[in-house]
Amino acid sequence: MSMADVTIYGGGILGLATAWSCIKKGARVRVIEKLGVGYGSSGSPVGALAPHTPDNWNEKKQFQFESLALGKSYWAEIERVSGLPTGYVKCGRLQAVQDQRTLLLAKARVEGAKKRWGEEGNWNLLRHGEVNDWKPRSSLDFLIYDTFSAIINPRFACISLAKAISNLGGEIIIGEAEPVGKVIYATGAIGLDATPEKSGSKLGTGVKGQAILVRYNASGLPQLFVDGIYIIPHLNGTVAIGSTSEKIFLNTSSTDSQLEELYHRAIDNVPLLKHAKILSRWAGVRARTSSRSPIMGRNPLNPSSYIANGGYKIGFSMAPKIGEVMADFILFDKDEIPKSFKSL
Ligand SMILES: Cc1cc2nc3c(=O)[nH]c(=O)nc-3n(C[C@H](O)[C@H](O)[C@H](O)COP(=O)(O)OP(=O)(O)OC[C@H]3O[C@@H](n4cnc5c(N)ncnc54)[C@H](O)[C@@H]3O)c2cc1C
Repeated sequence: MSMADVTIYGGGILGLATAWSCIKKGARVRVIEKLGVGYGSSGSPVGALAPHTPDNWNEKKQFQFESLALGKSYWAEIERVSGLPTGYVKCGRLQAVQDQRTLLLAKARVEGAKKRWGEEGNWNLLRHGEVNDWKPRSSLDFLIYDTFSAIINPRFACISLAKAISNLGGEIIIGEAEPVGKVIYATGAIGLDATPEKSGSKLGTGVKGQAILVRYNASGLPQLFVDGIYIIPHLNGTVAIGSTSEKIFLNTSSTDSQLEELYHRAIDNVPLLKHAKILSRWAGVRARTSSRSPIMGRNPLNPSSYIANGGYKIGFSMAPKIGEVMADFILFDKDEIPKSFKSL
């Protein structure tokens, strides 16, 4: 077992997942978070853990598949060590089928899922009438139902993970502190907004997202996906609706008419939510690399340190595996970073 010291800047899901894997593999860990655990994009209320479609397979899809497959036991262990809920449940997903092209693809994907997902879940086509009331409207008489998708409550998950890390002896420091040992930057959108001298091109950029949380109890029922909107029935009797996607924005945390428009599209498609009380509105900035894949390995801004960033829209579904691979890379020089994710 390595007893290296590791410092992680950033208390979002990627920093915490990396810290967790490092501590589990024997390192002494210090997380330095300047604002608070889950204060970055990891504080969104959404939390879909939704697999990529099982066709046109590539290393990013394979990596996400492996990460999602870790989910159930990973989050169960975090809950056990922390004593706090994460909101994880493998609830499946119902998707609307709006046109013939989607229907044809959906039919082909039944076999694709058998090949790519194996025992982890399957992809089915159901008649709209076969499903109870908790479902999206669908232009055609079909819904796609997959049993691989899961959900998590992002804020709960970050708090639970931080507690699990400190229960195993790790330090979580809010504010400023000196780094010790090997240093990893998992600083989200802020951390991507810089240009390495060698390449001359930016690592990535921020894409704003807005979401809304309503009071409605659909606990344990599938998440819904319709018209590009995720509708996530959390275990605590709330439902999150997200998200907008904005490349141009002035204020990182304000919500506006784009969210109201998204909300109205959501309740048109899921009429059960029409009278659900709105609890909160939220906005934050996702870190998107130019390749849209995560960036992992040596830090191009300072190669004596490391980087784990670029979770973009699927950071929570990638986090367990990113943490594992980063810990092996940092502690044991074991390099299992997919080629297209490599930072250098
Ligand atoms: C509206 C919205 C909906 C989303 N929905 C989903 C979803 O359904 N499923 C999914 O998987 N993903 C989703 N995502 C994406 C997911 O939230 C992100 O990919 C993930 O949170 C990225 O985590 P991170 O740790 O890289 O970044 P962050 O969560 O942004 O964390 C970075 C942290 O670093 C800290 N920091 C920055 N600079 C420093 C410094 N110098 N020193 C110390 N600390 C520093 C910040 O304060 C911040 O807390 C969504 C994102 C948004 C915005």
